[in-house]
Amino acid sequence: MLTGASTTDILTLLRTPPGERPALYARADACRRAAHGDGVPLRGIVEFSNICANDCLYCGIRAANAGVHRYRMSAEEILAVARRLPESGQNTIVLQSGEAPSPAGDARLGRLIARLKAETPLAVTVSVGNRPRATYAAWRAAGMDRYLLRFETSDAALFARLHPACTLAERLRCLADLRDLGVQVGSGFMIGLPGETHARLAANIALCRDLDLDMVGIGPFIAHPATPLAGVPNAWAADPEMHFVAIAVLRLAHPRAHIPATTAFDALFPDPSGRDLALVRGANVFMPSATPGRYRGDYLLYPDKPCVDEDAGMCAFCTAGRIVRLGRSIAEGPGHALSRAPGAAP
Ligand code: SAH
Repeated sequence: MLTGASTTDILTLLRTPPGERPALYARADACRRAAHGDGVPLRGIVEFSNICANDCLYCGIRAANAGVHRYRMSAEEILAVARRLPESGQNTIVLQSGEAPSPAGDARLGRLIARLKAETPLAVTVSVGNRPRATYAAWRAAGMDRYLLRFETSDAALFARLHPACTLAERLRCLADLRDLGVQVGSGFMIGLPGETHARLAANIALCRDLDLDMVGIGPFIAHPATPLAGVPNAWAADPEMHFVAIAVLRLAHPRAHIPATTAFDALFPDPSGRDLALVRGANVFMPSATPGRYRGDYLLYPDKPCVDEDAGMCAFCTAGRIVRLGRSIAEGPGHALSRAPGAAP
């Protein structure tokens, strides 16, 4: 059983001087290989709606951004995308959207989950924000396999400033409910939120490990011009490589987690692709966009999102190429969570 680094180790590793970072990346890559092998599980992400009632200060599709054209895909449109995912090795569908909870909308999502499970071989991951436990339970009963809900920052005061209608405690309650219901749980945080220090980054990584998350998504904070954080620089602007150091240390701290090379890495590091670099510095999962091309420009959580002018077929093709070029392979099977440490909390 691989065990993760202690919190003191995490802080020391984050302070690795630039000259020693290649060795840190090599260690993280070896840790990734020992825990997960060379197969890269693919999760096709469908951003099925950008309708949102929340006003998260960083997010480009926040309710107050009147410049966004709002859309919601129909169940038939989503199912048509889903049916095509397995042919390119994408065995999980991730359903992500803005947050506009309503009893009718939540029931509709439950029916969609049930249809996806009945009509496709896909594992189903949902990422639509905070809900009461009863809603998560209904989606679980419909067949939902996994849920993604980032805690965004482990600093409760900063969390409260960034989320006008939510607290960190409430977010953690959602994650605990999901775990308790037998759902595979993913969370994570943005790297380089305003005021971030090595110590705060270490605390974020330690929380991922302490929650014993099945999946951990982390990616750079990128200020969106139509939000209250417009123009605020990423806290690591003077040392952007810290984003990769964070991925590597996260891997060493929490070996069993599925860690995606998140899309925002490409926005910050377009060439060579930040997502490719993340895959050889600790990440093991890739999430090609499966959102139909005509909606992509309306789902800009941050500026410079890559592949906005592409369509889903192109993303599947490009993904296969980049994985082969890295000497890796597309993983077979659903890519479920690795088993948790014996004796871990339920
Ligand atoms: N509404 C859902 C899912 C969409 S947001 C939710 O909040 O869970 C998905 C993720 O995008 C968020 O968790 C956040 O970490 C990230 N994100 C949003 N705005 C961002 C920005 N400006 N820069 C970087 N990441 C951002």
